Amino acid sequence: MIRIPGYEHKRIAVMGLGVAGLPTVRALMASGARVLAWDDGVEGRNKAAAEGVPIVDLLSTDWSGIDTLVLSPGIPHTFPKPHPIAERARKEDAAIVCDVDLLGRACPDAVYVGITGTNGKSTTTALIAHILKSAGRKIEVGGNLGPPVLDFEPLGKDGIYVLEMSSYQLERTFSISFDVAVLLNVSPNHIDRHGDFAGYVAAKTRIFAGNRKRKTAVVGVDDDETRRIADAIADRLHVVRITREAPGRGMIGSEGTKLVDRTEDAPRVVLDLKDAPDLPGRHNAQNAAAAYAAARALGVAPEAIAAAMKSYRSLPHRLERVATIDGVTYVNDSKATSPEATVWALTSYQRVIWIAGGLSKDVGYDALIPYLPRIAHGILVGKAAKEIAAFLAKYEVPHTIVGTIAEAVPAARANARASDTKVVLLSPACASFDQYRSFEKRGDDFRAQVKKLGGGA
Ligand code: ADP
Repeated sequence: MIRIPGYEHKRIAVMGLGVAGLPTVRALMASGARVLAWDDGVEGRNKAAAEGVPIVDLLSTDWSGIDTLVLSPGIPHTFPKPHPIAERARKEDAAIVCDVDLLGRACPDAVYVGITGTNGKSTTTALIAHILKSAGRKIEVGGNLGPPVLDFEPLGKDGIYVLEMSSYQLERTFSISFDVAVLLNVSPNHIDRHGDFAGYVAAKTRIFAGNRKRKTAVVGVDDDETRRIADAIADRLHVVRITREAPGRGMIGSEGTKLVDRTEDAPRVVLDLKDAPDLPGRHNAQNAAAAYAAARALGVAPEAIAAAMKSYRSLPHRLERVATIDGVTYVNDSKATSPEATVWALTSYQRVIWIAGGLSKDVGYDALIPYLPRIAHGILVGKAAKEIAAFLAKYEVPHTIVGTIAEAVPAARANARASDTKVVLLSPACASFDQYRSFEKRGDDFRAQVKKLGGGA
């Protein structure tokens, strides 16, 4: 656990006692701080109170001596409407921060790597952590991806914190100037929480705040916005531009399936991503290029990075290879809850039996049109099954409607056999809430059903 020096007897307010809130309170109390904690949910309050956390209504209490409110990232302080406790903090001139800011205050000497972007944050964070760990570096990894940062071990000067940063966390972190900051991409998302797209982009750009010249900014330049940001920060930071396409001079990207570094005099082929089986698809070419750039900035040799990429194992529910049975690989991409995410999955394989459906995002499926030739057969589940069936029928893609994943998996196996298809892909293009509590539960169910196929293997 992290202890924050200088916090003995300091009064500090904590709002939100969930996954990051409770560890925050524990770390502050262990540091000797006088915590005043609140959660709007009685369950959260009771759980914390049972641990001896002082529960105080932050709206009615006296704020004298409090200069900081640790506000859980899930609670808005601006848009769509500030939480009343955030408004109170502002009135009292207290800084509104998140747990990552406290980590920065506690460990100012460590090296920090921050990763943000609309898509690919978790994968890139996990990949960078894997590369650094494989290279023998002392690291801790977490943040938005979990575990909560105040549960980390304290690291000294030779330690590296690898942090996945959401736009909400970036808005509330002031104490860290990232030594290596990665911005992968931006597309409209969470606009309600940032007022408008410009507000969202501004929050993401905060990953480069306070950055000094010797520090490295890795920017994915496949979007107009990020290209503009790369140009705007180039005078104060060492900017490394990465792309999921062929790289120009000075950039890192991919030519075919090869990851290519063109930042040196001669182009260097780092590896063929075909040899990194858990980094398939164009989207992972972007993630790999970013992770390579970050690891190079920290002095890891290209050969060591290539070796680590080959041994990288994907995070659960993100193109996760679950099993290979009778020559057919079953892939769990339950995290793909929108058609856009499924596009990336379909770019990753030549031909698949596609399991999809759930609760429709009501955005239509036209984004999939260019990739429909890759679908040998669609197996459709959940509420959206009929809607997707109508879409596939329009483009003459064979499909079957079944009710559940338990029915879909054996049906997919039969179809794979009949059509000699080597990949069964669960990439639902829909939310899970019609049948599951979360996309994780859906992916777990898929995994369990595949296990049954293999006779428990
Ligand atoms: P995040 O943490 O930003 O949500 P993840 O690494 O968890 O991202 O990936 C979630 C999904 O987003 C993946 O299953 C994939 O469909 C898609 N994805 C991953 N990386 C990228 C990328 N670089 N560009 C676009 N989409 C991506």
